[in-house]
Amino acid sequence: MDRYLDFFSHLTDGVGSARDFLEIGRVAGRFPSATARVDDGSELTPISVWCSNDYLGMGQHPAVLAAATRAIAEHGSGSGGSRNIGGTNHYHVLLEAELAELHDKEDALLFSTGYSANDGSLSVIAGRIPDCLVFSDALNHASIIDGLRHSRAEKVIFRHNDVAHLAELLAAADPRRPKLIVAESVYSMNGDVAPLADIADLADEHSAMTYLDEVHAVGVYGPQGAGIAARMGVADRFTVVMGTLAKGFGATGGYLAGPAAVVRAVRMFARSFIFTTAMPPAVAAAALAAVRHLRVSEVERDRLARNAARLHALLDERGIPYLSNESHIVSVRVDDDELCKRASDLLLRRHGLYVQAINAPSVRPGEEILRIAPNAVHTEQEVDDLARALGDIWLELGLRTGRDAA
Ligand code: PLP
Repeated sequence: MDRYLDFFSHLTDGVGSARDFLEIGRVAGRFPSATARVDDGSELTPISVWCSNDYLGMGQHPAVLAAATRAIAEHGSGSGGSRNIGGTNHYHVLLEAELAELHDKEDALLFSTGYSANDGSLSVIAGRIPDCLVFSDALNHASIIDGLRHSRAEKVIFRHNDVAHLAELLAAADPRRPKLIVAESVYSMNGDVAPLADIADLADEHSAMTYLDEVHAVGVYGPQGAGIAARMGVADRFTVVMGTLAKGFGATGGYLAGPAAVVRAVRMFARSFIFTTAMPPAVAAAALAAVRHLRVSEVERDRLARNAARLHALLDERGIPYLSNESHIVSVRVDDDELCKRASDLLLRRHGLYVQAINAPSVRPGEEILRIAPNAVHTEQEVDDLARALGDIWLELGLRTGRDAA
């Protein structure tokens, strides 16, 4: 036994500190306020969270909490089974109908997480089309990569957001082969946005099916929160859209929306859908309330957009470099493992501001970032305080500014 334990203890040598998790307690009703166990963890320290994917604060919205509480009272805590065997509740059915309507697709299918939605959907779609050739963006998420691996389909990678490269690869492929193009709309680490109209044009030109991951965009962009493709007016040009309920919608779970025949095939064959317990009714009810709210309210989207624009402008004033200003994800470049951790640490300990340092393997070594997620529930004052704190830390640690680079 010792030799196995010895093996595993050495396996994580050198990566342990980067993977320490900060324990936080988000305060419902007062988020982005939270408490954290800093240092030895014996005391709770008040903090403000700047790295949450609950981008619109829907995880504490009164209508969402009321829906979840009601569903718990009605149906208890768990779902009791897989969707196929006793686990399908009325809220699942309502939520699938709502999501299909949101994306103007024929049908939708819920999964327990966005990860399993990509894994299951892609394994079926790419795996069941005979001889499918897949074109996948180089920065596509791990769940997309895993879904494509499970499909066993042949895969070609195009350079990130590079339509010229995608065009080249498509032109070089056998024109008779069925093709699938897989992209995200907002990239989770860079915060940049894909050229969706160009991708759709190429798909038309080469008769390819398209799969769009809108995880970081649903609820957050577009009419009724339908996402970036809807905002650009090209949603109908993507065969299927995949989303999460865990970010803009503030709950948990993932989904696929698309033509009824595709959704039916995924429902029949996706192992990550079939062989797992359905999401709890209260989670489906909470997500349903969030989706319904965000289909009619612009308040949260407007606030988030204002806060992101304000933060971008304040960083520009200080010359603090970030990767993209195309979305609400503000990835500040540190490009050094140790300094990134120290900057994050100083923000937390000195200023009570929680921004997670993103180090390898989430990004390539030497491309470390502070991934800042402004939230609809941050105030202008809080945005200003964060920018000031970052400015102080940049000076103290002698971090590179845009001005240095120029
Ligand atoms: N797709 C992308 C682009 C993501 O960034 C993530 C998670 O961060 C997922 C899918 C998985 O979604 P979930 O967190 O709901 O499992």
